Amino acid sequence: MRFSPLLSKVLFTFSNFTRLRTPHLVHQAHLARLRPVPLRSMSGIPFLGALFGSSSSSSSKMSYPDQRSDDEWRAVLNKEQFRILREKATEPPGSGKFDKHYPEEGVYTCAGCQAPLYKAKQKFSSGCGWPAYFDSIPGAVTRHEDKAFGMTRTEIVCSNCGGHLGHVFKGEGFPTPTDERHCVNSVSLSFSPDDKAKESKA
Ligand SMILES: [Zn+2]
Repeated sequence: MRFSPLLSKVLFTFSNFTRLRTPHLVHQAHLARLRPVPLRSMSGIPFLGALFGSSSSSSSKMSYPDQRSDDEWRAVLNKEQFRILREKATEPPGSGKFDKHYPEEGVYTCAGCQAPLYKAKQKFSSGCGWPAYFDSIPGAVTRHEDKAFGMTRTEIVCSNCGGHLGHVFKGEGFPTPTDERHCVNSVSLSFSPDDKAKESKA
């Protein structure tokens, strides 16, 4: 059933041909011929499992293209940026400069490494007190399970430097194309009105 008709036919012919002599060996031969394929794919699974397991269990241990040390980050970030981007703190609701910022065009970039993260048109008003986006620039944001504070939430970080952005929430019923809310700290973001240059880079 798992074999293609052609393969079944070949196997059938093969076993017919040798059936009278050594049926047991024929069976072994089938197994021997088939075994390398499942073995190869099986051995790939634990490897992939380990890969994904490690990437989702700890964001801080993941390798991002931008691998600056804490000291290097301290040199370029102010105290509040370091606390939020590198230590996963959260700015008070309603305090951020981009909370009520709704430009027609432009790109929000990572305040740490300047990677483009969100387009202006992906921002929406959620009333939650933090900038909210219904989607990100493809691949710009990486998700991790966050079990801090006795809750299971999905943390979002910059895919380029691992900087903490905030959390993403699903199924809240906002009238957006995705029904997702990327709840992002303003402190984690910079804004560039130059949409076109950033987009071609993204
Ligand atoms: Zn970044």
